[in-house]
Amino acid sequence: MRRGRWSGVSLDFPISRPIISMKIIKGDNVKVMSGKDRGKTGVVSAAFPTTGKIVIEGVNKFKKNARPRREGERGQLVEVSRPLTAAKVQLICPSCKEPTRIGARLEGNRKVRYCKKCKSTI
Ligand SMILES: [Zn+2]
Repeated sequence: MRRGRWSGVSLDFPISRPIISMKIIKGDNVKVMSGKDRGKTGVVSAAFPTTGKIVIEGVNKFKKNARPRREGERGQLVEVSRPLTAAKVQLICPSCKEPTRIGARLEGNRKVRYCKKCKSTI
């Protein structure tokens, strides 16, 4: 589902409250569950919690025309990965190797993420 000019910040909510709780962080191995790259897996190379978006290596690729930097050089097509909504992906659990939803729980004083399928800490 596309939301036109949605920029990641909705003014229907108080700004002080985090709008999106991002459970996917940089370095996570994720699987894309919807969109044109459905079924692909990759490692999160960047996460933007303010907009709820992530960049996955090799996923959501777009061709970009690179201008020639020097005279006589040809411009070329470069493939870049664009950010996609974190809601489209699921984390692949390191212990059960399944795409899973993530829960949060307290371990001592630390908040940790856990796999909702096998309950192991991620
Ligand atoms: Zn698991």
